[in-house]
Amino acid sequence: MYLEEVIISGFKSYAVEAGVGFKPGIGVIVGNNGVGKSNILDAVAWALGENDPDRLRCDREEDLFFGGTQEYPPAATVNVTLKLKAGPEKKASVTTLARRKERCGADVYTVDGVELGRSAYLQKLSALGWRDTARTLIRQEQINRFLHLSPEERVVYLAGLLNGTEVNQELISRLNA
Ligand code: ATP
Ligand code: MG
Repeated sequence: MYLEEVIISGFKSYAVEAGVGFKPGIGVIVGNNGVGKSNILDAVAWALGENDPDRLRCDREEDLFFGGTQEYPPAATVNVTLKLKAGPEKKASVTTLARRKERCGADVYTVDGVELGRSAYLQKLSALGWRDTARTLIRQEQINRFLHLSPEERVVYLAGLLNGTEVNQELISRLNA
């Protein structure tokens, strides 16, 4: 299963709806500094349930809402939709995950258009294998920390990632520190 499309609106620099498509395999997002590349990954993490401001690169939750410019007013709602597609070996089945947040506080999670509570949503993500963003989204600053691990620690970390085991929780916390 791979991420086929991310649709973002009202999130950080994305004032109006924008879609980013991916193909199976490795995808690369390129662009000038400050155009919103990392914001796309933040949006993916947020839609996967991330709430930690550090991991979303903001001070307060409010910073997730597009702040407004002369051209566009501040966003009242943040919407991020992820379209997950089954791999080419399976017949195209798409699972649509979405998270919406209103400035007034409502935080709404949906799977294929059906609203779920946060914990049911996170359970669904676990079942799909899309839950643990600490393992699956590796940020630039984590790579720097990874380079500072000892060779033995790197082996433990990578073996844990490949086996999906819990052995590297301590290392994961250090990388995410
Ligand atoms: P780099 O190549 O330097 O890593 P990038 O393409 O990854 O750049 P991002 O970090 O995704 O850039 O985007 C940074 C931009 O997002 C900044 O211009 C910042 O002002 C804008 N931005 C962040 N939060 C908001 C917000 N809440 N409202 C409006 N703009 C925002
Ligand atoms: Mg960036």
